[in-house]
Amino acid sequence: MKFISSMSALALLAAAAMSPAILASDSETHPIAIAIHGGAGTISRANLTAEQDRAYRAKLKEAVDAGHQILASGGASMEAIIAAIQILEDSPFFNAGRGAVYTYDGIHELDASIMDGATREAGAVAGVTTVKSPIALAEKVMTNSVHVMLSGAGAEQFAAEQGLELVENSYFNTDQRRQQLERVKAAMEQANQQAMAQLDVDYKFGTVGAVAIDQQGNVAAGTSTGGMTAKRYGRVGDAPIIGAGTWADNESCAVSATGHGEYFIRYHVAADICNRMKYLGEDVQTAGDAVIFDTLLPAGGTGGVIIVDHEGNVHMPFNTEGMYRAKRVGDEAAVVSIYADEAQ
Ligand code: ASP
Repeated sequence: MKFISSMSALALLAAAAMSPAILASDSETHPIAIAIHGGAGTISRANLTAEQDRAYRAKLKEAVDAGHQILASGGASMEAIIAAIQILEDSPFFNAGRGAVYTYDGIHELDASIMDGATREAGAVAGVTTVKSPIALAEKVMTNSVHVMLSGAGAEQFAAEQGLELVENSYFNTDQRRQQLERVKAAMEQANQQAMAQLDVDYKFGTVGAVAIDQQGNVAAGTSTGGMTAKRYGRVGDAPIIGAGTWADNESCAVSATGHGEYFIRYHVAADICNRMKYLGEDVQTAGDAVIFDTLLPAGGTGGVIIVDHEGNVHMPFNTEGMYRAKRVGDEAAVVSIYADEAQ
């Protein structure tokens, strides 16, 4: 905790006494839950071969099981979400880490953020090009710096100082994403204004994220992405913006988002869902559906979220054809889904 050094032990005790959120850990064991996503978008049965379908599901299961294992053995929700996200970052299937999309200029610029619902501490990075695991760097920003968000060259310097693994930008090159960039650029030239709407199939929103609640009742959320294909001019999406793509608060819920980031920023989606629960008393399903279907969709914002609330309820609404997703609640087995007609 970065504030410990600047606060006396007495002040910390006083703060803890005033804030029930900080005191989430007590002798009682809370029900655990974890949910993950690997992006939402035009993901339909027609777009995936049976082999791809199987491979995506296997990777999602591996990630959700890894996070669940940590929670089941008494580990922290923060640790669980990082473990799950890193498995997805290391896979070329998802638009985060290894499988990050290309910018217009043919490189990769990655964004990520993390938030701890017990302390409301958060860390975020934007536009990093050589950090193998952006979610690990976001965690370092949260725990080892006095800042919340670092970007570009400064973030890379901090990553090096923290001893994180650095890679050449070409580490993130994949044929599939390169072809995607070429298709998007060709279409952009043809149909400037309509390009975004028309190209949904190629943007595909493969961002990754995780939310969890641990045995102490603490929630955490994290999101990691390569952003949107053919993004330009140092564009930053919602994923590193606390409140837009990521939010966690022990008094309400934890959320990780995926979708067309500009809308998620303007509608402050992740925090809006949790604040509806907190101030309006809505349940996780009502709050999530209100924002994804009633607010975002009419505005033109496509995508989805995964939510775990402070009681361990999970909801994963999305307004696209599909969203790669998986959850494990309590002792239940993993439920892995891709398309809209499957279990939420
Ligand atoms: N939300 C991400 C962004 O706008 C994209 C995604 O979810 O795939 O950068």
